[in-house]
Amino acid sequence: MTGYRIIEGAKLDARNTFGVAARAPMLVEVADTGALGELFGYAMLRDGPLLVLGGGSNLLFAGDPEGAVLALGSQKIALHDDADGADDGVTLVRADAGVEWHALVLWTLGRGLAGLENLALIPGTVGAAPIQNIGAYGVEVRECVHAVEVFERATSRVRRLTAAECAFAYRDSRFKRDPDAFVVTAVEFALRRNATPRLDYAGLADELQAMGIDVRAPAGVRPSQVAEAVCRIRRRKLPDPALVGNAGSFFKNPIVPAAMADALKSDHPALPVFGSGDPASRKLSAAWLIDACGWKGFREGDAGVAASHALVLVNHGAATGAQLLALARRIASSVQERFGVALEPEPRIIGARW
Ligand SMILES: Cc1cc2nc3c(=O)[nH]c(=O)nc-3n(C[C@H](O)[C@H](O)[C@H](O)COP(=O)(O)OP(=O)(O)OC[C@H]3O[C@@H](n4cnc5c(N)ncnc54)[C@H](O)[C@@H]3O)c2cc1C
Repeated sequence: MTGYRIIEGAKLDARNTFGVAARAPMLVEVADTGALGELFGYAMLRDGPLLVLGGGSNLLFAGDPEGAVLALGSQKIALHDDADGADDGVTLVRADAGVEWHALVLWTLGRGLAGLENLALIPGTVGAAPIQNIGAYGVEVRECVHAVEVFERATSRVRRLTAAECAFAYRDSRFKRDPDAFVVTAVEFALRRNATPRLDYAGLADELQAMGIDVRAPAGVRPSQVAEAVCRIRRRKLPDPALVGNAGSFFKNPIVPAAMADALKSDHPALPVFGSGDPASRKLSAAWLIDACGWKGFREGDAGVAASHALVLVNHGAATGAQLLALARRIASSVQERFGVALEPEPRIIGARW
């Protein structure tokens, strides 16, 4: 047996950024994705419940995973020939699923490639980035995804899905909707050397200015400077999981019919309302709704809501996943009751239903 190792009864406490206790009946650490064909020959992996685990930064273990847990350790990043043969000023980069996301961002910036700078410092792995179409500071990863290489469980085949086949949407994708179908083994990104940075997201241009960078001509701002500004804002705003357990934003911004958004805005003029990409609907700020219900800084035992950010649930030490889930449900119920808006969790909940 090469390319993987199996640990029975593996503790997952240090493998999730909430830092809650959980145990996997079987953890399979895969160093070489070439071993997946052999591994999925075993019934437990092929047919049983499976959790593919990256950095555990978008998961809540409300209970133990039922079946095997698979962790990919593959670490290669390389410039990639354009398999579609296009010569369109785009540079393709292929990164293995096990690569740390921020390490990839730094790697691309170090080679003068633009595209991922607004997504700097998002925790987790490359393999998880397409799952919820990670997004931050006005950019979603789908804008740079060229293709996703997957191992298909039903057929034991390696396939290359185009970005269109991934059906990306706001914090969503084909992979998130059908988590049992594929193991993402690598992602190909289409990046550019000469791209005008995206500085439209609130606060980004101000941060660059505070760094002494002239933003009047955005084309003159380097991608590495944008990434630095993003890191500065993120370090100020988001609790560091190394210090206090969390999974970033716990709720998605709800998308509601335009008429409902208009009515809410007229009753609550301070409510931030954004376009959703569809003229018939609008995206509301989940953070504002939760804050308005008085949850920011709330704490019960070790489960709480960050004082700095109403969207971030925190584990102050010994909270269980079930306690954090119970708190999340109370928050969502209060928002539903007061505003008639249903909140949906962003992280995947393991061991319980939302
Ligand atoms: C402090 C903090 C800030 C954050 N900020 C942001 C943000 O700005 N924007 C954002 O979008 N997210 C953010 N997140 C959430 C999280 O970092 C991202 O969703 C990240 O992509 C999760 O990566 P991971 O490797 O930790 O995935 P995990 O948490 O390990 O897994 C998440 C999901 O992806 C699946 N998965 C993981 N790897 C694979 C694979 N190789 N193949 C198939 N399925 C896989 C898992 O089964 C699970 O369903 C934040 C989290 C934290 C803690």
